[in-house]
Amino acid sequence: MSKVAKLPTALNPGELPAVVYRQAVDQADIGISITDTEANILYCNAAFSKTSGYSTEETLGRNQSLLSYQTTPPALYEEMWSNLQRGLSWHGHLLNRRKDGTPYLAELNVTPVQETNGTVRHYLGMHRDVTAMHQLEQRVLNQKQLIESVIDAAPMAIALLNDEGKIVLDNHAYKKLVTDLGVPEPAELLLAGLAKASAPGRNGGIDVRIERTGGRKPRWFCCTTQMIEIHDESADSFFSHPRQPSLLLIASDVTALHEEQQKVRAAALQAMLADEEHTATLRESLSAALYQIEEPINVIASAVALMRGRGDTGVSAVLENAVSGARARIEELRGLLPSESRDDESAVGINLNEVVRDVLDITTPRLLASGITVDWRPEPVLPALLGSPLRLRSAVKILIDNAIDAIVGQRGQGRTTRREITLFTQGRREAVTLVVDDGGPGIPLELRLKVFEPFFSTGSQAGHHLGTGLSRAQQIISDHGGIIDILDAPHGGCRMRIELPTGRDRS
Ligand code: FAD
Repeated sequence: MSKVAKLPTALNPGELPAVVYRQAVDQADIGISITDTEANILYCNAAFSKTSGYSTEETLGRNQSLLSYQTTPPALYEEMWSNLQRGLSWHGHLLNRRKDGTPYLAELNVTPVQETNGTVRHYLGMHRDVTAMHQLEQRVLNQKQLIESVIDAAPMAIALLNDEGKIVLDNHAYKKLVTDLGVPEPAELLLAGLAKASAPGRNGGIDVRIERTGGRKPRWFCCTTQMIEIHDESADSFFSHPRQPSLLLIASDVTALHEEQQKVRAAALQAMLADEEHTATLRESLSAALYQIEEPINVIASAVALMRGRGDTGVSAVLENAVSGARARIEELRGLLPSESRDDESAVGINLNEVVRDVLDITTPRLLASGITVDWRPEPVLPALLGSPLRLRSAVKILIDNAIDAIVGQRGQGRTTRREITLFTQGRREAVTLVVDDGGPGIPLELRLKVFEPFFSTGSQAGHHLGTGLSRAQQIISDHGGIIDILDAPHGGCRMRIELPTGRDRS
């Protein structure tokens, strides 16, 4: 076992005896050699022998080229020698051969040793075997390449986000989404959708619906996320090993599947809405008939009161009986009116965009037949609503049907018509808004309250309707805690605005 001696107190730190330098070089744990200017070895230490396999005796007097594996590109040696001749040191990697013939990668540092007058008669070489380090680097590179190729070949979009939400790794399918969805960072949309989505997808994922503008159909993605901890690569983390949380997002495109389901749903919906409309029409026609029957009865009742006032009790008693009998029959008939289908579907998390899309799917034939174009600008992700999807579809259908009627009703009236309906949605935490703008004549200010009264119809729509659509729509919206109001559309025409609460407060 070696002993560690203290420096003699008389010796200053800068005045080491030459023997200490010699011992330090002899025992250094890095291969050290000293050559003449022709690279003939004059000295080598134990670590040099250990790395190369040659003993000191086998090395001394031989040229350093003894170590060459003969595959290092000549340009490298030329660069090395060019540096040395200009008095500069050189650092690089060479392929060396051990005495037993095995190759090893040497990291070499060669320095010209300048004498006090600047003359160079010797070169100092320091080299170490970095084969294991090189293998490790290559393995990491290969693994990175392999992982990147597998990730790139995957059909699903994959993105890794750091704790600031920045993408640190993504694949081809993800990059394709940038153009497909027309946003610089699709992950933001998908994660926002994931936070608001309620539909469970396949394999533990959640299906997220992403709306697209310009009349393009929405896209569906089955999304999964996973937290991953990544090791910090900075030098100051060498001992503390801090880890950065990262989020792995995987999104599979399931649009085709949803479109198939949507087709089936749309057919069923059409039947349900037709049924609902049929019942509503029946209810409204009967209500209108009862209302009309009530009018003469009310006149008779007033006449009877007048007769009674004049003392004609005989006839008025008979008439009074007839009036109360008629009123009782009317109430009986009112009781037989088909009721509104309030609980058609249980209250669930409703996406207003889906409601509008369903209604547009159903009204497409009418829109096409009327030559009306639709500009549908859904907010990509909306908070969910609670309520009855069927009743909300009925309300939205009333607005769209009214918009079509308003545009079609202008035909031949000499007005410049914009055969366009613009719809857009907006979402806040506490409420969701739908706006329907039409290119029709608009509704004058003085009629904007009246149009919500039952059996009221504006000129352009009279004759086609009983005038109960808007009152029905208002009833549905207010049953959902919302409001409906009428404004001017930016290019003339009517703007119908629905605001529905999400049930969540602002905070
Ligand atoms: P060479 O014919 O010896 O040389 C190849 C090229 O180098 C030639 O084209 C020539 O331009 C240039 N060259 C060679 N000798 C000189 C010179 N004296 N002056 C100017 N230019 C010259 N090589 C290794 O492969 N492994 C090592 O670990 C290694 N360690 C070295 C350590 C030191 C301190 C020094 C000074 C050199 C070391 N070399 C090492 C370089 C080695 O001396 C050879 O130059 C090299 O191995 C190529 O040898 P070669 O026989 O293939 O070709």
